[in-house]
Amino acid sequence: MSQRSVVVLGGGVAGIAAAVGHHELGFRITLVEARRHLGGRAFSLAARRLGQKIDNGPHVLLGCYRAFRRVLRALGAEQSFHRPDALQLTWLSKGGRVERMTGKRLPAPLHLVAGFLGIRGLELTQRFELLLAGLAPFLPLPRGGVTVATWLRHAGFDGTARTYLFDPLCRAVMNAEPDQCDAGLFVGTLREAFAGNRAHSAMWIPVEPWDAILDKPARDWLGRHGHRVLLGHRATTLEARRPAPSVRLDDGTLLADHDRLVVALDWRSAHSLTKRFAVAPAADRIPNSPLVTVHVALPPTAVPFDDPIVALLGGQPFHFLCRRPRLDGAVRADVPASLLAGGATDLDGMPAARIVSLALGQLANHLGRTAPWPEETHASALVVREPRATIAPRPSIDDLRPTPGPTHIEGLWLAGDWTATGLPSTLEGAARSSLDPLGQVTNDV
Ligand SMILES: Cc1cc2nc3c(=O)[nH]c(=O)nc-3n(C[C@H](O)[C@H](O)[C@H](O)COP(=O)(O)OP(=O)(O)OC[C@H]3O[C@@H](n4cnc5c(N)ncnc54)[C@H](O)[C@@H]3O)c2cc1C
Repeated sequence: MSQRSVVVLGGGVAGIAAAVGHHELGFRITLVEARRHLGGRAFSLAARRLGQKIDNGPHVLLGCYRAFRRVLRALGAEQSFHRPDALQLTWLSKGGRVERMTGKRLPAPLHLVAGFLGIRGLELTQRFELLLAGLAPFLPLPRGGVTVATWLRHAGFDGTARTYLFDPLCRAVMNAEPDQCDAGLFVGTLREAFAGNRAHSAMWIPVEPWDAILDKPARDWLGRHGHRVLLGHRATTLEARRPAPSVRLDDGTLLADHDRLVVALDWRSAHSLTKRFAVAPAADRIPNSPLVTVHVALPPTAVPFDDPIVALLGGQPFHFLCRRPRLDGAVRADVPASLLAGGATDLDGMPAARIVSLALGQLANHLGRTAPWPEETHASALVVREPRATIAPRPSIDDLRPTPGPTHIEGLWLAGDWTATGLPSTLEGAARSSLDPLGQVTNDV
């Protein structure tokens, strides 16, 4: 029997996962990517001002990311992360107060319960509130159409539980504020991270730029296995054909006679390319949520603690300070820090210099720093805007998301973080959208 073949459109995480999954089923693969790199929305760029490569924005994983970890394993990149064995959270309040929580070596949910009880600097009542919040993943899933904020209010989680736990988690996982997010998607993610194995709750932080984790390893892997990668080629039209639709590329090339076509594009591109087949008819109505990152070389002693990810409490619009760690978790002083504003539509159209001032002003405020930042700190800062970082996970958003996998058109499959994976748009959602329909992901993490 001749070898079956698949054309994968899109070289983001969903496209790479589709390649990995189909390779293991024995398919011959042609992967088409419009840009000159693989990795899609997780990529690196050369920043001359900072004298090195930076990522478009910090990406972190959770230990429960079973499908994405499977892709990383296939690429040989699973070791490129600082991997604590349970959840660790660090909070910085205005004026420089730092608090930390570390999940303990106990079965779930006791690892969180004991971790919250152990937070120094909080009153006992506050720790107790957090302790109860650690049980939230065990509550019934909220019904459709409810926001995270409403669900939290009804479940009695307010005050400390929101400030320290739910608001930062919601921003990190959903890339939007709790009053803008679907509660079902949020609680579903909490369950995966916090209701199972203790290691599922750990945040994995990359120790290398993303091009060293995805772009190069994926290209090497595809080449090593004799698959074809067409970088810098855009798919422009699909034509009905059997056993799968054919693809016309922007240079006129026709890809035809493959057994399967996987469209693993972002939602806007997927909608316009597949319009005539009506496989993602509502995708153009999926709203997007932006993410703005300010990368900056801070003076060596400016941040007097060694935590790679810090939630900035009570601050707007930047919610996280991220710094690249080494494998052991110690922060690297030679890599620029990043300040992250997720879902921050108020930064749309704001001049970069103003965003940098806001970021450095807010950081100084949180650190309790009174001295002005040196001129070279301002000069080093670089703003990266990602207007379509993720889909906006509004209540009932799943009504607009098509099921990933085979469609009603013979040979045409859909994938991408915007499809209905049961997760918000994340690296894991992207990987699952390709691997779950192939029936290949086990709970082996
Ligand atoms: C700054 C930032 C920070 C983030 N942080 C996190 C995080 O911490 N944790 C997390 O889990 N997620 C995070 N995300 C979300 C995560 O990056 C995405 O969910 C994931 O990368 C989406 O992968 P994808 O393959 O579905 O889509 P994409 O990465 O968008 O891939 C689609 C690909 O299709 C290509 N393409 C489009 N049109 C065509 C065409 N016509 N022909 C050929 N190719 C085409 C595009 O160039 C792109 O490479 C973050 C996103 C951003 C932007």
